[in-house]
Amino acid sequence: MNSVPVNLLGMPREELEAMFDTLGERPFRARQVMRWIYGRSVLEPALMTDLSIGLREELGATAPMTLPEIGVVRKSVDGTVKWQLNVGQEQAIEMVYIPEPARGTLCVSSQVGCPLNCSFCATGSQGFNRNLTPAEIIGQVLLARRELDVSNGRSPITNVVFMGMGEPLANFRAVVQAANILVDDLGFGLSRRRVTVSTSGLVPQIRRLAKVSNVALAISLHAADDKLREQLVPINRVHPVAELMEACWDYARETNAKSITFEYVLIDGVNDTVDHARRLARLLSNRPASANLIPFNPFPGSAFRRSSPEAIDRFRQVLIDAGIMTVTRRPRGDDIEAACGQLAGRVRNRVQIPLGSRRPGLREESVQL
Ligand code: SAH
Ligand code: SF4
Repeated sequence: MNSVPVNLLGMPREELEAMFDTLGERPFRARQVMRWIYGRSVLEPALMTDLSIGLREELGATAPMTLPEIGVVRKSVDGTVKWQLNVGQEQAIEMVYIPEPARGTLCVSSQVGCPLNCSFCATGSQGFNRNLTPAEIIGQVLLARRELDVSNGRSPITNVVFMGMGEPLANFRAVVQAANILVDDLGFGLSRRRVTVSTSGLVPQIRRLAKVSNVALAISLHAADDKLREQLVPINRVHPVAELMEACWDYARETNAKSITFEYVLIDGVNDTVDHARRLARLLSNRPASANLIPFNPFPGSAFRRSSPEAIDRFRQVLIDAGIMTVTRRPRGDDIEAACGQLAGRVRNRVQIPLGSRRPGLREESVQL
């Protein structure tokens, strides 16, 4: 076995099989270990009783598995739970669980902070430190499952969304690895429609995603024209709306998705008029698309305000009249700063990545914007 410690948590099934192969073990060891980790939440090799004692000792010595450490836990009056998780070097990410009558959604983070700097987002205003590893991403799901009530014997997590801190597609490899484990029968066994990657619009990565995964895709659009979108979502200067929409329709076709979700934060006086709604309707009507309207959630230091309930209803009606499936997201957990866009965590030693950068030289991590 390698003398360098390896992390089995989040390791793709094929890599695990290859690792056991180099150890002279049969490939089915990978299945056994995955069942222990994801099926039974057992992370200590010593307790994996269907492995030989020698193998258990070897894995225990070289492949320790650790979950992020829980810092602060806050619970909202509406049942939403937010965990602040320490990820070393005094930094923290946040993860949110949103219970609803028929489902339980876990919102996971993919980066410590976010390099994309959208003007309306608390995470963006924190800056960026680093990508999370697959173990840190998948570790959030294991941790949440352990912390949540499982008294009825079933996992309360039915859906996982990459809508926490960070831009998931800027941490492509780790996010795809984690998503694959979420949908793997030997992993969490979720249906691909119940795993959603949300992106602010990294076009090349959307195209790559279609080749290696078929999970649900959500796009943070927030404006239907380039001039306004550039102000709200700076990555639009690199990948304008038309290019983004093409990539979305191709993604839907290549992955056989019924629809792509378009998220639209409604900000008072900025992007919430009937005219804005009509422009959005023109982009989405007669396409495999649905709209998710998110009333802006305030955070310290932000000058924006939430649109009025009347403006939100008017906006929604325009989309519905154009035949677009539209829901208005009810803010959840906003009393504990757990709602969309309010996650801040603790981000130290921020680094700058210029827009459009392909090889920013950040250690060996490949943040591609
Ligand atoms: N980086 C990814 C995923 C994380 S953000 C992305 O941007 O898609 C999850 C969602 O919350 C996105 O749609 C984002 O645009 C939205 N959001 C960000 N700030 C918000 C705010 N202050 N109020 C409401 N939604 C916000
Ligand atoms: Fe990053 Fe998404 Fe926030 Fe933009 S909205 S700064 S991409 S987390």
